Amino acid sequence: MAEQRREQTDARDPGNGGQGAGAPTRGRAGESPRRRATPEEARAWEALVTTARRTVSDGLVVGTSGNVSVRVGDTVLVTPSGVPYDRLAPDDVTGVDLAGRQVLGSLVPTSELPMHLAVYRACDAGAVVHTHAVHATAVSTLVPELPLVHYMAGALGGPVRVAPYATYGTEELAENMLRALAGRSGCLLQNHGTLTHGATLDQAYDRTAQLEWMCRLWLTASSVPGRTPTLLTEDQLAQAAHRLRGYGQRA
Ligand code: 13P
Ligand code: ZN
Repeated sequence: MAEQRREQTDARDPGNGGQGAGAPTRGRAGESPRRRATPEEARAWEALVTTARRTVSDGLVVGTSGNVSVRVGDTVLVTPSGVPYDRLAPDDVTGVDLAGRQVLGSLVPTSELPMHLAVYRACDAGAVVHTHAVHATAVSTLVPELPLVHYMAGALGGPVRVAPYATYGTEELAENMLRALAGRSGCLLQNHGTLTHGATLDQAYDRTAQLEWMCRLWLTASSVPGRTPTLLTEDQLAQAAHRLRGYGQRA
């Protein structure tokens, strides 16, 4: 991928070679100038690519479905649109500012930029993960909210809502997603998939994995003929959510 991108860049921008880190690159007429990735952005890109590859190896997406982003200051690094994650190289760093203007790289950013940017504008998230995880997507076609089958909903801020369907990549989808996300760190996208955010890539990814697991749990329990799963009350969830805040090892 890096070779392909470099060829494209060189063809468009023959004067790009030999510039130092952070130096602006000349874009085509009308394009804002691009710059080189900082060492911090280069490290964040590596972590982003690792996370994107995990979504495939863990079965949360197939092919180039889904997308991942991570915020470094006022720059948002994003997976490029339609590029297999195993072909992404260190030179493929793709980044936009919070207004969506491309400031890093020459690959076209994810088509779901509106969703990713909406999250960063609305809260202090450090990373966003979008997948087409199969159980979560199945649940998104059945209910407006994931029934409270497990206390891990507390790790996502409460019962997980389903954002009404809108065409992928649109501002309408981003608006629906943002409403479903209110007070939560994850939601389902009707007939489409999942979206979670977190302070870090690992936290955002883990929330997606937990959400997919809860959806699989509900589908499994609710598919037993003649039986209906018991559900937690809001009060039981609140108690678990409180306890989850102290879960794990002390820092
Ligand atoms: P991109 O390849 O443009 O990121 O799109 C994948 C996707 O999941 C769209 O909803
Ligand atoms: Zn998608």
